[in-house]
Amino acid sequence: MEEPDRFANGDYTNDVAPGMREKKVDRNFDGGRHGGDIRGIIDHLDYIRDMGFTAIWPTPMLENDMDSYYYHGYSITNHYRVDPRYGSLDEYKELSARARQMGLKLIFDEVLNHIGINYWWMNDLPFKDWINFAPPHPYTGSNHRRTVNQDIYASKYDKKLWSEGWFDKTMPDMNGKNPFMSAYLIQNTIWWIETLQLGGVRQDTYGYSDKTFLKNWSCSIMQEYPNFSMVGEEWSYNPLITSYWQQGTKNKDGYSGCLNTIMDFPLQDALVKSLTGHEDADYNPPFTKLYEMLANDFVYTNPNQMLLMGDNHDMDRLFMQLNQDVAQTKMALTFLLTVRGIPQVYYGTEILMDNTGHDKVDGLIRADFPGGWKGDSVNAFKGLGLNPDQLSMQAFLKQLLNWRKNNPMITAGQTLHFAPVNGVYVYFRYNKDQTVMVVMNKGNEAATIQTDRFDEIIKGRRSAVNLFTNETINISQGITIPPKTATVLTLKAN
Ligand code: CA
Repeated sequence: MEEPDRFANGDYTNDVAPGMREKKVDRNFDGGRHGGDIRGIIDHLDYIRDMGFTAIWPTPMLENDMDSYYYHGYSITNHYRVDPRYGSLDEYKELSARARQMGLKLIFDEVLNHIGINYWWMNDLPFKDWINFAPPHPYTGSNHRRTVNQDIYASKYDKKLWSEGWFDKTMPDMNGKNPFMSAYLIQNTIWWIETLQLGGVRQDTYGYSDKTFLKNWSCSIMQEYPNFSMVGEEWSYNPLITSYWQQGTKNKDGYSGCLNTIMDFPLQDALVKSLTGHEDADYNPPFTKLYEMLANDFVYTNPNQMLLMGDNHDMDRLFMQLNQDVAQTKMALTFLLTVRGIPQVYYGTEILMDNTGHDKVDGLIRADFPGGWKGDSVNAFKGLGLNPDQLSMQAFLKQLLNWRKNNPMITAGQTLHFAPVNGVYVYFRYNKDQTVMVVMNKGNEAATIQTDRFDEIIKGRRSAVNLFTNETINISQGITIPPKTATVLTLKAN
């Protein structure tokens, strides 16, 4: 996942586009445009591939003709125009083709719920109900109370505000209940899938739109492209809220949409809280929160299709969430890349990009990737000027990602986990051919665990290879795990 404006500037001639409201580029202003673009991504696809990633998700690159603070791309003002500051449609197609040649899927970030207030049609709406609470109605914001969707006590008043209120004063709410709007958005999705030969769609603010429309949209796309992948953003820490949208879920109200992947905010939250220790140690040993959140997977139709992340562009950098602890950050990434689901890594995680001291400041969370601009004193693409911790993390993630993508017991295997004991959490990922054991030791001291507890899965195997050290160790006499480490062991057949 990356911010096109902040990743790399591959074309200085497009930094300022004629006719756009934002008139300048200013890298010293966190809310302004910094000049990154499609060419910058194309120029560094080899870096992304070599790191071991298999897909790229740039945040929206359609026209956002707004004032400052709209570099993020979620205030679209034309559904069929690439923002000229990112490049042309031909460059977008080139990005897709080059990525595909390198084995990278291109994910399109789409926004069905809202637009930017400067959208040309706001001056001449085709229908009175094209936009919810359309002017001259006074501004009416969403209450952001996503629980009302299933809440048996929820008022009609709150339900209407949730779904029809605007996401923000500058983001009018599109009315999916209008059949012409619904058709417009479905056709637009298909047009981009065909034009860019997309590998997937990431759908913003899922749940904020009318849910009958969301069903029509998601099922129309999946009917047309049965093997397609679409992920929805439902920012709730409650699996009962997130699972509602996944294809095949038997909801009490009979609702059944066609989205195959949902973002796993519940597991993200549990991971960080488990590592930072906000747990009740008297009753729940460390990692219980994580263990018990993963235990909620019974609510999902397909847990292996959940999208995992340590952070994203709307929350503090993972490194900051983990109090700038390098060892814990490695533990978190090891978990994300070995547990079930589809992992997503935010650009710059590999070099410990950080917004410490600037809590939730979007423009600083979405900082420039060093080396993406001419004259940058640090060049992370080439490893120049990085400190030892950054170099270590970059190498660590590269090894883990490249290993992961070739190991189906991780990408598509089954899961077995054991209740945490003494600050150590053990889980296995396996298929008929291979078994991987992951041991997470949160403590500040080495931990030795006996393996007889895991007989049902180890089945008498006596040795295993450590992914990170490549050592073969005897596991029959117990395993010693260094402090603050997640160890990945591939069991040998012996
Ligand atoms: Ca540029």
